[in-house]
Amino acid sequence: MSAPRQLFVTTALPYANGKFHIGHIMEYIQADIWVRHQRMQGSQVHFVCADDAHGAPIMIAAEKAGKTPQQFVAEIAAGRKEYLDGFHIAFDNWHSTDGPENHELAQAIYRDLKAAGLISTRTIEQFFDPEKNMFLPDRFIKGECPNCHAKDQYGDNCEVCSKVYSPTDLINPYSALSGAKPVLKSSDHFFFKLSDPRCLDFLKQWTANGAVQTEVLNKISEWLVPDETGKTALGDWDISRDAPYFGIEIPDAPGKYFYVWLDAPVGYLASLKNYLGKIGVDYDQFITDPKTEQYHFIGKDIITFHTLFWPAMLHFSGRKVPNNVFVHGFLTVNNGEKMSKSRGTGLDPLKYLSLGMNPEWLRYYLAAKLNGRNEDIDFNPDDFMARVNSDLIGKYVNIASRAVKFVPGGKLVAAPSLADVDAAGLAASVKTLYESRDYARALREIMAVADVVNGAFDTAAPWKLTKEGKGDEAAAVGSWCLEMFKLLTACLKPVLPALAAQAEAFLQCAPLGWTAAAPPLGAGHTVGKYEHLMQRVDAKQLDALFEAPAAPEPEKLVPGGEELAPTITIDDFTKIDLRIAKIVNCEAVDGSTKLLRLTLDVGEGRMRNVFSGIASAYKPEDLVGKLTVMVANLAPRKMKFGVSEGMVLAASHGDEKAHPGIYVLEPTAGAQPGMRVR
Ligand SMILES: [Zn+2]
Repeated sequence: MSAPRQLFVTTALPYANGKFHIGHIMEYIQADIWVRHQRMQGSQVHFVCADDAHGAPIMIAAEKAGKTPQQFVAEIAAGRKEYLDGFHIAFDNWHSTDGPENHELAQAIYRDLKAAGLISTRTIEQFFDPEKNMFLPDRFIKGECPNCHAKDQYGDNCEVCSKVYSPTDLINPYSALSGAKPVLKSSDHFFFKLSDPRCLDFLKQWTANGAVQTEVLNKISEWLVPDETGKTALGDWDISRDAPYFGIEIPDAPGKYFYVWLDAPVGYLASLKNYLGKIGVDYDQFITDPKTEQYHFIGKDIITFHTLFWPAMLHFSGRKVPNNVFVHGFLTVNNGEKMSKSRGTGLDPLKYLSLGMNPEWLRYYLAAKLNGRNEDIDFNPDDFMARVNSDLIGKYVNIASRAVKFVPGGKLVAAPSLADVDAAGLAASVKTLYESRDYARALREIMAVADVVNGAFDTAAPWKLTKEGKGDEAAAVGSWCLEMFKLLTACLKPVLPALAAQAEAFLQCAPLGWTAAAPPLGAGHTVGKYEHLMQRVDAKQLDALFEAPAAPEPEKLVPGGEELAPTITIDDFTKIDLRIAKIVNCEAVDGSTKLLRLTLDVGEGRMRNVFSGIASAYKPEDLVGKLTVMVANLAPRKMKFGVSEGMVLAASHGDEKAHPGIYVLEPTAGAQPGMRVR
């Protein structure tokens, strides 16, 4: 048996200016499946990632938010765990490119490249914002397109006519940060001399030796194949930026920082170093060990950085180069269709989790689409539900729930094969497919065997055998099916770690690795009590997932300090007869500090006597002669001081202590006593 492999695996570092989207989650799941497969074959794996913390966009976003870049990035980083734990993505370490290891490693790599004669300096002219006192990245310069004259276009290309140009071509350029007219200013920049023949030779050889997928090689060949004049498109790479910049200082060059893309991939090594420090392993020894294999999972948008710049940086600084860079395509949702308002526009990972949707449904669905090539894949809600329910519930889980009923006490008996299933062959084939990241084909092979097992169970019809008094034969059928269930569990384990753990608990077997996948549990082995393993996807969950987010609930205001009374109908309202009343007399009430006695004329040819609790707000003489509104059909009420024949309307706050004050209603001029208020 060969010695266990020693692996260092990464996913691309997410830029720390926002939350994860579903594309990040897909990449992490793809890598996590591969890592789990490696561990099942006994490989020692260090699986790490980090936040990509530097660069102008973060510096500017932090400034806008009134935070330091460090605070800004730390807040983003604090939100990562919820996603990773939620989707069972088991990185060993999560670090930041602003960590001390990265500062040290990026500077060391730069010094080594300089010593190798691959760093040059050149003076370039760039737009400078005289108000912000900084050089402007292309994205922060706007102006009129020189081609179609569309206004407010970015410095690198026009969104209206798609023309690509340089910022200096813009008509009436202005800084998107301050609005100021930028000035051209020269500055010394540092370049990594990728056009050096040594770099070209190395990259041709490295890319041709299987370190990238064929389709990726085809794409990057454009950069490496010389034109008729003998020149390649691979130019020197500008790796410096001027202060102010959130990044790593370039040694011996005050005011100069590494461009964020120089130190970002170094973050892979920095996170590894940080992790090895935690577990007490020597970083230098590990990374220089010829046995160590290095793999990067990335998306197709960052191919040039990872297959040209990064390996050249490593090689010419005397470091180990990646064994492979695994490139995947993009994930679209509903074929990138612009979804209707009611169905929303994307798949929000946290919303998925908050709806109680099983993370392993998504892992399974994405795995069923990932084939190891640089191709886009699509999330289709109907397909998702059909595939999860049919494959995981209808095929895989179904085997255990049906079979266990025919195995008395869960004790397996000698089980002749009911169908032609090559257990060792399946495990070996699936293992190879995981290795090449063709998860789609691995799952097809697994589900084909699940079909065979379910078919054999139906044909053997153990429920009939039981009725016929052939319980032993039924137990053999059930036992064979449970052996097959164990085989399938091992095969699905990299994709469905939590479900596999539940299945292992049911089977009462040790955690399954590849060597344990095919050998049977054997007669006499006892399995545990079967408990439901997985719920079906409900269409309602998918509807909720893609429902447009509800408009934020308006903050509930409590008017006047008290909740509105329950809704009434107009009929309820007309029961209350409100009339204009003239206050013909008003006097204090002996023995009461609260009440005033009002004499009211409501145009009835008689006066009404009404007591009102407004003594704290009015002196009697303030009110005499005024008009007000009263409830004229309120049943007369006998009070300590006499009978009250109605009620005068007044306004007050719900919390009278905090907001004292009582305000008697008064109609505008012209109202006459006796008029109805409606
Ligand atoms: Zn244009």
